[in-house]
Amino acid sequence: MRNFISGCIRIGHNLQPAPPVTPSPVLDFKFAALPANPSATRPGDPSYPSSSGLARTLKPVRNPRLQGLQCLRCDALYPVTLTHSGCPACKRAGFHVALRASYLPDGVDAIPMPYAPGFTLGEGQTPMLEMPELARHFDVARLNLKDEASNPTGSHKDRMTAVGVAQALDFGAHTLVLASSGNAAVSAAHYAWAAGLRCEVATYEGMPATYTRQLDALGARRYVFADNAGRWAFVRERSQYPGYLALTNYRLPALGSAPLAIEGYKTIAPECVADAGLPDHVVIPTARGDLAWGIYAGFRDLLAAGRIPRLPRLWLVEPFPRLARVFAGGAINGSYPGHTAQFSTAGATVTYLQWQAATATGGGAVVVSDEEARAARRLLTAAGVSAELCAAGGLAALRQLRESKAIAADAHVVLMLTANASSDPSWPDPAV
Ligand SMILES: [Zn+2]
Repeated sequence: MRNFISGCIRIGHNLQPAPPVTPSPVLDFKFAALPANPSATRPGDPSYPSSSGLARTLKPVRNPRLQGLQCLRCDALYPVTLTHSGCPACKRAGFHVALRASYLPDGVDAIPMPYAPGFTLGEGQTPMLEMPELARHFDVARLNLKDEASNPTGSHKDRMTAVGVAQALDFGAHTLVLASSGNAAVSAAHYAWAAGLRCEVATYEGMPATYTRQLDALGARRYVFADNAGRWAFVRERSQYPGYLALTNYRLPALGSAPLAIEGYKTIAPECVADAGLPDHVVIPTARGDLAWGIYAGFRDLLAAGRIPRLPRLWLVEPFPRLARVFAGGAINGSYPGHTAQFSTAGATVTYLQWQAATATGGGAVVVSDEEARAARRLLTAAGVSAELCAAGGLAALRQLRESKAIAADAHVVLMLTANASSDPSWPDPAV
């Protein structure tokens, strides 16, 4: 039986209100001491901890039409802050729902962004690779890979980090804090270092040396925890102090990453359209859905601006059933643990972000086992493409989607190549 949930899901259908939330488990860790007076130092101060030595404008310009943060579910409007706690009104109704950036329309800017100019190290405008042999192999008319490994630190996370850094500089924050075990941590450490910000990363025991070496070299502080709940509690605690911008999720039930930062993913949509035309389907490796929601938001903006006639269907690929279980009637704030070698998409939580990205586009969830992902990675490797395992999982999902006829033979498909295999602890695959 395929663990595939078809696109028959409708907006608002089948989403179960959350049962009363069980408090997060008591966490046993000791915080490292905060800097003596973290708010006393600012970028540019002589005591500031790191500097790239490269002169760079550190004054992002906030979009004057950014009017606040709006609930994904009830549209309530809230001010932009450094913390993100979701919509309190929806929380009272049992839904843990993230906020998104809300802009006053200007009739000109199809894809409004929080900052223009913002802070950039050259992320975005990544290549769209044409894969005709793989398209024939999977029996679709056209297959593109959106090569996010071409971003400065090698993953799509740079798009989010860049906007997060811009917000930190705009708000006078001194430290990025996040929970990550891989690509997001490296991205945040690199961008923070380049911007003269501090970076604190809540991670786990056994973090691969390929990541720890980079974090150490970039001056990021690492704090080690046994599980996600511990990491998120650390970030939540830090976010209460002035001057900390929490980049990633730190709530349980999960909400997703910082709302303004997620906006950084929106530009993937116009890049796809400009480089390869409007796809019929976009296949996206997914943990908590930041990337998927950002892509959805970008296409939604293009549709609203009359630039495209329809939305592509977004297929969210996961290594074991989480969103798939929510579509089968499970509570959206349930815990759906599982083990996987698909390092970047592990985790037990589902967010409203990813639920909305799938349902609003007529897409769905696809579950891909590690073995299926490894088999797909062999095909990618043979085609000259290096992929982290969860990105190869997207190719394996394509096989399922063709077999179920959710994707037709005449379809144009884009697969998000979130990162290459170079830092993936599951690489290299065993020889077969
Ligand atoms: Zn709400």
